[in-house]
Amino acid sequence: IAAGERRRAAGRAQAEADMRAAGFEPLEPYPGARVRWLCRHVVCGRTVHPRLFGIRAGKGGCRACAGRAPVDRAAAEAEMRAVGMEPLEPFPGRVRDRWRCRCMTCGHIGTPALNNIRRGQGGCYACAHRAGRSLDVA
Ligand SMILES: [Zn+2]
Ligand SMILES: [Zn+2]
Repeated sequence: IAAGERRRAAGRAQAEADMRAAGFEPLEPYPGARVRWLCRHVVCGRTVHPRLFGIRAGKGGCRACAGRAPVDRAAAEAEMRAVGMEPLEPFPGRVRDRWRCRCMTCGHIGTPALNNIRRGQGGCYACAHRAGRSLDVA
């Protein structure tokens, strides 16, 4: 029983870590991967109910952010930084434009588009690739 409890606790911690990595701050205890989970979208401050299952599948958890054009440059840059990418040039103006940024984790310079970030893709190809690899090995 104790081992099961530990496993559940670890699963919960991993769930919260994954949610935070996607830019959502959990507002209630982890309900399960396929259940709607009350969270705050850090970038826009909205309260949303994404499913962890969807977030892990690469779906964006915040419809408002997924659908809308960016309001201003500062918000766009904040959004990029929220996924760990430091912009190296001013926001190009449209969410689908490629934008030169440096990954704060590994230093890789890439050109992610903001609309891909909003769809839940990570900003850094190199980091995403590495994460995929380590999952394969595990
Ligand atoms: Zn949002
Ligand atoms: Zn990286």
